Amino acid sequence: MRFGIEDDRTRIVIETSDPADFRAFTLDGPTDRLVVDMPASSWAVRGLDAGEGLGAGLVGNFRFFNNSATTSRVVFELDDPAVIASQFVLEPPNAGGNYRLVIDLAPANPGNFAATSGFIRTGGIESLIAERVEAVYTPPPSRARRVLVIDAGHGGRDPGSMSPGGTRESEVALEAARELRRQLEATGRYEVFMTRDRDVYPSWEDRVGVMVEQRADLFLSIHADSSADSSVHGTAVYTLNDRAENRARQRANQGPGPTDQADVNNILVELELREKRNQSTAFAEVLLEHLATAGPLLQNPHRQANLFVLLDSRVPAVLLEMGFVTNRNDEANLTSAAARRRQMGAVVNGIDAYFARRGDIGSPQENPSRELPVR
Ligand SMILES: [Zn+2]
Repeated sequence: MRFGIEDDRTRIVIETSDPADFRAFTLDGPTDRLVVDMPASSWAVRGLDAGEGLGAGLVGNFRFFNNSATTSRVVFELDDPAVIASQFVLEPPNAGGNYRLVIDLAPANPGNFAATSGFIRTGGIESLIAERVEAVYTPPPSRARRVLVIDAGHGGRDPGSMSPGGTRESEVALEAARELRRQLEATGRYEVFMTRDRDVYPSWEDRVGVMVEQRADLFLSIHADSSADSSVHGTAVYTLNDRAENRARQRANQGPGPTDQADVNNILVELELREKRNQSTAFAEVLLEHLATAGPLLQNPHRQANLFVLLDSRVPAVLLEMGFVTNRNDEANLTSAAARRRQMGAVVNGIDAYFARRGDIGSPQENPSRELPVR
């Protein structure tokens, strides 16, 4: 991978050992980017083993991955809107040399950029998936601290479950999220982002957006349950199920309308979720082991939910139902600071154990200067 700058233009050169058909196109929103698709490749980018690197000129940084069994993709994040001025392949300069894919970028005004940007439709569900799925689950590059996104459920116009006594799920979820953040930050091992830190209602796209933007290592959505039967009580953890996947597939088969592209992009990633689901299930199970030390669990506590907020290809995600606002004991715990500290302490232990099992906690990256700048 090489970059060259001439006047206001940026040249990207990708060397390949074999001739490769490639397609390049730009996308606008949530960030401006140039996408290059090519046949499934094994990557050997000099000096980069983490799947990403810094660009030059119009390119801020780039990342590369295999986004399906048959395709590889490089995504170049653009610092400024740009159009593809030319793209071509050069033969090897000498025997045994490399082919070179060349893409020249020129600055564009935002209007031009938007007009020339978008996925190329080639038809067929499989190609649609391959085009839009950005990555099969790939662990984010090593960072000094793990990045967690905590989502306090509901909020604002949506109070969630309510108890006869007036306990609102949206409030106890936010209190728990704040307590969990406090405890996680106190370990020094985690950087924590919240989808909300006050009584507002973010859309599920916004909630998912936080986790995508922060390239989170883990996403935890916090809720409290309710039941018509006041004896039902206990904690439960949910992950995605096959029905969510089927629904995403149906939505994909209907094809994207002009207005719901972002929606479809988010949902489509669900289709290549198996590895992420394995990770989510692993986290759900270890989380439950630890939650069991802090209070009773609901019967069959690891249930699979059908929740948009858990949809994203890259981030293991689970939904925690802390207890039932409609059960007197659970309600008392949900509104008690001491019980909350205990339960969120168990969650922290579960998170620690999850990363320990993945073998990467306590070994922060030696050289954090390789981290990409936060933008
Ligand atoms: Zn809820």
